[in-house]
Amino acid sequence: MSRIRNANLAGGSLFVLNALMPAGHPPIRAHPAKPFRTLRDAAVSGEVVLIRCGLCRRGATFLASDLIQVVDPMHPVHLPPFGCSKCGTTEYIDIRMATPQSKDVGLMPVRRLVGSKKVWLWQDKVLGE
Ligand SMILES: [Zn+2]
Repeated sequence: MSRIRNANLAGGSLFVLNALMPAGHPPIRAHPAKPFRTLRDAAVSGEVVLIRCGLCRRGATFLASDLIQVVDPMHPVHLPPFGCSKCGTTEYIDIRMATPQSKDVGLMPVRRLVGSKKVWLWQDKVLGE
Protein backbone atom coordinates (compact mmCIF):
# COMPACT_ATOMS: atom_id res chain seq x y z
CA MET A 1 0.00 0.00 0.00
CA SER A 2 2.70 2.43 0.98
CA ARG A 3 4.58 1.43 -2.12
CA ILE A 4 1.70 2.56 -4.32
CA ARG A 5 1.33 5.76 -2.35
CA ASN A 6 5.03 6.51 -2.84
CA ALA A 7 4.72 5.80 -6.54
CA ASN A 8 1.77 8.16 -6.77
CA LEU A 9 3.67 10.84 -4.91
CA ALA A 10 6.63 10.38 -7.20
CA GLY A 11 4.37 10.65 -10.21
CA GLY A 12 2.77 13.77 -8.80
CA SER A 13 6.14 15.36 -8.17
CA LEU A 14 7.23 14.58 -11.68
CA PHE A 15 4.11 16.20 -13.06
CA VAL A 16 4.73 19.33 -11.04
CA LEU A 17 8.33 19.45 -12.21
CA ASN A 18 7.25 19.07 -15.82
CA ALA A 19 4.66 21.82 -15.41
CA LEU A 20 7.28 24.20 -14.03
CA MET A 21 9.91 23.47 -16.63
CA PRO A 22 10.13 26.06 -19.38
CA ALA A 23 9.60 25.23 -22.99
CA GLY A 24 12.64 23.95 -24.81
CA HIS A 25 15.51 26.36 -25.12
CA PRO A 26 17.03 27.00 -28.50
CA PRO A 27 20.66 25.98 -28.88
CA ILE A 28 23.14 28.54 -27.60
CA ARG A 29 26.22 27.28 -29.44
CA ALA A 30 26.14 26.84 -33.20
CA HIS A 31 27.38 23.81 -35.07
CA PRO A 32 30.80 24.71 -36.53
CA ALA A 33 29.61 23.94 -40.07
CA LYS A 34 26.40 25.91 -39.72
CA PRO A 35 26.74 29.23 -37.88
CA PHE A 36 23.65 30.95 -36.55
CA ARG A 37 21.97 33.72 -38.50
CA THR A 38 22.70 37.00 -36.82
CA LEU A 39 20.82 40.26 -36.51
CA ARG A 40 23.33 41.71 -38.94
CA ASP A 41 22.32 39.09 -41.53
CA ALA A 42 18.68 40.02 -40.98
CA ALA A 43 19.49 43.73 -41.30
CA VAL A 44 21.32 43.15 -44.58
CA SER A 45 18.24 41.27 -45.85
CA GLY A 46 15.97 44.14 -44.76
CA GLU A 47 13.99 41.95 -42.38
CA VAL A 48 11.79 42.94 -39.47
CA VAL A 49 11.88 41.20 -36.10
CA LEU A 50 8.59 40.45 -34.39
CA ILE A 51 9.22 40.17 -30.65
CA ARG A 52 6.35 39.15 -28.39
CA CYS A 53 6.11 38.17 -24.72
CA GLY A 54 3.75 35.22 -24.35
CA LEU A 55 3.24 35.98 -20.66
CA CYS A 56 2.33 39.66 -20.90
CA ARG A 57 0.92 39.37 -24.43
CA ARG A 58 2.83 42.48 -25.45
CA GLY A 59 4.94 42.78 -28.49
CA ALA A 60 6.38 44.99 -31.16
CA THR A 61 7.92 44.79 -34.57
CA PHE A 62 11.41 46.20 -34.97
CA LEU A 63 13.61 46.74 -37.98
CA ALA A 64 16.67 44.52 -37.71
CA SER A 65 18.71 47.51 -38.91
CA ASP A 66 17.50 49.48 -35.86
CA LEU A 67 18.21 46.62 -33.44
CA ILE A 68 21.86 46.28 -34.48
CA GLN A 69 22.43 49.86 -33.36
CA VAL A 70 21.36 48.90 -29.84
CA VAL A 71 22.46 45.27 -29.40
CA ASP A 72 25.41 43.28 -30.71
CA PRO A 73 25.02 42.83 -34.49
CA MET A 74 26.37 39.28 -34.10
CA HIS A 75 23.49 38.38 -31.76
CA PRO A 76 21.76 35.19 -33.03
CA VAL A 77 18.31 35.96 -34.42
CA HIS A 78 16.65 33.06 -32.58
CA LEU A 79 17.57 34.39 -29.11
CA PRO A 80 15.76 37.35 -27.50
CA PRO A 81 17.88 40.49 -27.83
CA PHE A 82 16.40 41.84 -24.56
CA GLY A 83 13.84 40.95 -21.94
CA CYS A 84 10.22 41.95 -21.86
CA SER A 85 9.79 45.54 -20.74
CA LYS A 86 6.94 44.55 -18.43
CA CYS A 87 7.92 41.23 -16.79
CA GLY A 88 11.66 41.65 -17.37
CA THR A 89 12.35 38.07 -18.40
CA THR A 90 13.29 36.55 -21.75
CA GLU A 91 11.64 33.26 -20.73
CA TYR A 92 8.43 33.75 -22.69
CA ILE A 93 9.73 35.85 -25.57
CA ASP A 94 8.78 34.61 -29.01
CA ILE A 95 10.81 35.88 -31.96
CA ARG A 96 9.85 35.72 -35.59
CA MET A 97 11.59 37.14 -38.60
CA ALA A 98 9.74 38.47 -41.60
CA THR A 99 10.60 40.16 -44.85
CA PRO A 100 8.26 43.08 -45.45
CA GLN A 101 6.40 43.04 -48.74
CA SER A 102 5.55 46.08 -50.82
CA LYS A 103 1.96 45.92 -49.55
CA ASP A 104 3.26 46.46 -45.98
CA VAL A 105 4.71 49.88 -46.78
CA GLY A 106 2.61 52.52 -45.06
CA LEU A 107 0.56 49.91 -43.17
CA MET A 108 2.86 47.77 -41.00
CA PRO A 109 3.31 49.26 -37.52
CA VAL A 110 7.00 49.27 -36.62
CA ARG A 111 8.72 50.49 -33.47
CA ARG A 112 11.57 52.63 -34.75
CA LEU A 113 14.68 53.83 -32.98
CA VAL A 114 14.30 57.59 -32.78
CA GLY A 115 17.02 58.48 -30.31
CA SER A 116 18.73 57.65 -27.06
CA LYS A 117 18.65 59.15 -23.60
CA LYS A 118 21.66 59.75 -21.38
CA VAL A 119 21.13 58.82 -17.74
CA TRP A 120 23.30 60.32 -15.01
CA LEU A 121 24.22 57.79 -12.33
CA TRP A 122 25.26 58.91 -8.85
CA GLN A 123 26.97 56.89 -6.12
CA ASP A 124 28.23 57.87 -2.67
CA LYS A 125 32.01 57.39 -2.34
CA VAL A 126 34.85 58.73 -0.20
CA LEU A 127 37.04 61.63 -1.24
CA GLY A 128 39.93 60.58 -3.44
CA GLU A 129 38.30 57.44 -4.75
ZN1 LIG B 1 6.45 39.93 -20.37
